[in-house]
Amino acid sequence: MKTFIKNGTVINPDTAFIQTTNVLIEDEKIMRIGDAQHEEAERVIDATGLLVVPGLVDIHVHFREPGFPQKETIQTGSLAAAAGGFSAVVCMPNTKPAIDTVETLTYVLQTGKRHGAVKVFSSAAMTYGIEGQILTDMESLRKAGAVTFTDDGRTVMDPGILYDCFCKAAELDVPISSHCEDHRFVTSGSFNRGKFSSLLGDPGIPALGEELIIARDILFAEETGARLHIQHVSTARGVQLIREAKARGVRVTAEAAPHHFSITDEQALLSGTMAKVNPPLRTEQDVEAVVQGLSEGTLDAIATDHAPHTIAEKSHPLERAPFGLVGLETAVGLTFTKLVHPGKLQLMDAISKLTINPANIMGLPAGRLEEGHAADIAIIDPNKEWIVEPDTFHSKSRNTPFSGMKLKGKAVLTMVNGNIVYDENSPSG
Ligand SMILES: [Zn+2]
Repeated sequence: MKTFIKNGTVINPDTAFIQTTNVLIEDEKIMRIGDAQHEEAERVIDATGLLVVPGLVDIHVHFREPGFPQKETIQTGSLAAAAGGFSAVVCMPNTKPAIDTVETLTYVLQTGKRHGAVKVFSSAAMTYGIEGQILTDMESLRKAGAVTFTDDGRTVMDPGILYDCFCKAAELDVPISSHCEDHRFVTSGSFNRGKFSSLLGDPGIPALGEELIIARDILFAEETGARLHIQHVSTARGVQLIREAKARGVRVTAEAAPHHFSITDEQALLSGTMAKVNPPLRTEQDVEAVVQGLSEGTLDAIATDHAPHTIAEKSHPLERAPFGLVGLETAVGLTFTKLVHPGKLQLMDAISKLTINPANIMGLPAGRLEEGHAADIAIIDPNKEWIVEPDTFHSKSRNTPFSGMKLKGKAVLTMVNGNIVYDENSPSG
């Protein structure tokens, strides 16, 4: 089957290509970019006024399978991804059981192949059960397809275990993705420790708890030569630590989540448990530092940390409600509304941080819009204004602090291997 996407602003960050032109797709591949013939195309998509970009890549999602299908499944999570413009995702291992054996990893990858609307990649745990005690069989997990090792949701606190893990990662040349939280220092709290946590009578989560581990893991990467990827950076000093590490040549990359560059800890007063996320929403100054980190390149990628929970769980009292929010279907809207339209991040940089950069960090065959490559494509309407209505989400969960927010910019069509997996304008989409 031939598909012709005509007259869109075609962007390929890998080659800094941006041009109003056409894309011809044949079956699962991109055949031609430019003045292609389209007379024989069975399907023509008019992309006038729209951006035609590589399918977006989210290297930090929680699809909750196996273990928590009431929150999300690989199938529903991948539908949410498609609706957000994503064509590839990396699942986190804090499922039940955790993704700490080849068997569970294979289950996730095969379920992704069978039922996923998008390309489902997976991490594997650094330690069994994400308990920080015994290293997993990293070599076998890597061979079975793990693209990174992480205990996301928790931090490995024992330096001896961590050292062995970093050495193994260096040997296998696979990145460690680090959730940074010193559990000896951060023991309670739901929101950022500061003015608003005090107002709410919450003990608060100190920024220092995150920064201690960022600093520690940078030293481990420097010592062992392993590649380190810092997840969901949320504090100004965290950004500064990564900036300094990069300047002296440490192999470190980092991601920011849309909620950390869009809203502050004041959101706790408005959204309650819906704004409870880990790391927490921080201060205005931290948000500015994260935006600065993205624009100068200290922060390489935008990743959602899509973390679905049921309404019943989020209705618990503050201390008992789980951390996390769903992010796949609002990421493009927030990136354009908060960064691109106000001129804080160049369009090309924004697309890079949603495509080629995260793909390169994890070594994924994704994030490129080039002739001969898989036709994984997102079409974005940068000027589409819309209001976040959680009831319309494709995700199984509705936990978002962005409900009712007006955004400008939206993915309107997503293609994976030449198949349309989401189409805003088709009733089935
Ligand atoms: Zn995390």
